[in-house]
This record gives sequence, C-alpha cells and structure tokens, in this order.
Amino acid sequence: MTKRIILIGPPGAGKGTQAAKLSSTLSIPAISTGDIFRANVKGETELGKKAKRYMDAGEYVPDEVTNSMVADRLQQDDAKEGFLLDGYPRTEAQVNELDKMLEAAGHSLDAVVELTADTDEIVGRLLARAQTEGRSDDTEDVIRHRMDVYEEQTQPLTDIYRRRGLLRQVDGLGEIDAITERIMKVLEG
Ligand code: ADP
Repeated sequence: MTKRIILIGPPGAGKGTQAAKLSSTLSIPAISTGDIFRANVKGETELGKKAKRYMDAGEYVPDEVTNSMVADRLQQDDAKEGFLLDGYPRTEAQVNELDKMLEAAGHSLDAVVELTADTDEIVGRLLARAQTEGRSDDTEDVIRHRMDVYEEQTQPLTDIYRRRGLLRQVDGLGEIDAITERIMKVLEG
C-alpha cells in the first residue's frame, strides 16, 4: 500500500479535511505545513514570527524557512514508515528539496493526489470558512491572491509529477466521504 503521499490542490479544495481522514485510514501522519505555521504563529515562536506576514498577505513563506521545517518534521519517528504531506511542496525548489530529503533517507514517493475544484466553488468555501474559523488569510482579496499564487507557482508541479507517473487526479467536489473513497480508490488502483 502507498505510504508516502503528497496531497496537492488549490486553497479550499479540501486538502486538510481529506488529509485528516486519510491519516487515520492509512495510519500515517498528516503533515500540514499550513497547520504547523499557524501553530507557530499562535505560539509566537521565532518561526511563527517569520511566517506570519507572508501568510497574512497570501504569499508563500520563503523556501529556506519551509524546507528546514519539513526536513525536521520528516525526521520524527512517526514519519519513518510513511506520511501524507498537505501543502508541501508548493514550489519547484521545494520539490527538489523534498527529493533530496527522501533520497537521503533511502525513500521515494508513492503517489501525488491532486484534488481539483473550480474557482467559484472554492472561493465560496473559503469565505464560508472565514465566518466559522476566522483565519486571518480568508478575506476575499487575500483568497484571490492565494489562488493566483497557487496557479503560478504550484499548479506547474502537477506536470512534474505527471511526468514521473505519480499524479492521480481526484474530483474534490461532492460529499466528504465520497471524496475520501475516490482517493482511496486511486491509491489502491
Ligand atoms: P491554503 O491551502 O488554504 O492556502 P494552508 O494552510 O495550506 O492553506 O497554507 C496557509 C499559508 O501558509 C499559505 O498561504 C502560505 O503562506 C503558508 N504555507 C503553507 N505551506 C507552505 C509552503 N509549502 N511553502 C510556503 N508557504 C507555505
């Protein structure tokens, strides 16, 4: 069974929701760079201080900050047998860094799952989330900017993984459980 998985997709596609479900089904940790950054912002750590202004503006945190954070996380015991990365890699430089981290550990990726959803749907979801969760980057302007940044910097990564034969596209529209089943199917596929 595939155990080293990347979840990729635009903001609001439902990566976090699916990552949590897949993590318990597959017994591997879900590692969300966004969650780690938010925890650090909340805890007012040095890392949080570095990340906050980028996050609030809908910009990516600089690669060197993000890469070393992920390298540390992947070295923890619970990630030795597998992991599900949510929100990383997001730039081509991060793809290269992740390749190096895995190579150094003698591991390789098993699958990259792209959750797809159309723009109107996801803007709507994110605006609804703004009401309930109050994330500081869920205002309409910042949401639109995050989607542009995604399209420009992260969408191209799907081609890289497609060329490696790792990409599995899954429709992110519909019932949460139905989407989890779709993902499990392509992973088992
Ligand atoms: P979303 O997918 O809704 O944009 P995330 O929780 O994944 O939300 O990310 C929130 C913010 O955290 C991003 O806009 C960015 O500032 C920062 N971030 C998360 N992951 C990365 C990453 N891999 N590289 C750079 N910045 C990141």
